[in-house]
Amino acid sequence: MRKPHQCPDCRKLTQKVHDYRLQKIQHTQVFGRNTLLFYRKRRYICEDRQCRKRFYEDNSVVERYQRQSIEYNQALSIELIHGKNFKDVADRFMTSPTTVMRRFDQISSSKLKEATELPKVIAIDEYKGDTGGEKYQTIIADPIERRPIEILKDRKKETLKEYLRQHGDKVEVVVMDMSQSFKAAVDQALGGPIIVADRFHFVAIFIGHSKR
Ligand SMILES: [Zn+2]
Repeated sequence: MRKPHQCPDCRKLTQKVHDYRLQKIQHTQVFGRNTLLFYRKRRYICEDRQCRKRFYEDNSVVERYQRQSIEYNQALSIELIHGKNFKDVADRFMTSPTTVMRRFDQISSSKLKEATELPKVIAIDEYKGDTGGEKYQTIIADPIERRPIEILKDRKKETLKEYLRQHGDKVEVVVMDMSQSFKAAVDQALGGPIIVADRFHFVAIFIGHSKR
């Protein structure tokens, strides 16, 4: 739908369309298939005679200068927690491991740093950085909201312990694979009546726990 747009330069409103450009956007999986969106992007031209600025319409489908949609990137963020490695995630999202790694870096460097206090329920997972190398990292996630909270630089017990000591005051339930050596770190850092569950038993325990 055409609606008045404000010129980014002179701030005057315009409704005059200059042209259209078709853009291919990789989109989220729908019924297990990768889908592509073809977005017909409208470009406006400022009606002010001195200005004549050309600019694209506002849209929520594509973030500016991004070829991939916002939803696709959100799905990719979630998949980064559960995927086996970058190659695996890349294959499923029909993109390159480089793209996935770049996204991973963005997550670990920017918005994940915001969390200062962990929620009551957290999940701890290790993440194998790439297929050949030995680059492991530790992912702290919120299993209820299904979002990553923090990515630790390695999978060392000391690193995890230090992080939990600083941020884990409210943690009551930790979801993790029982075979992982993280359990000792959790016990030592958090102490108290921490419930540790593997993924399989997590749902049942959490429901019981929240009724208390
Ligand atoms: Zn203008």
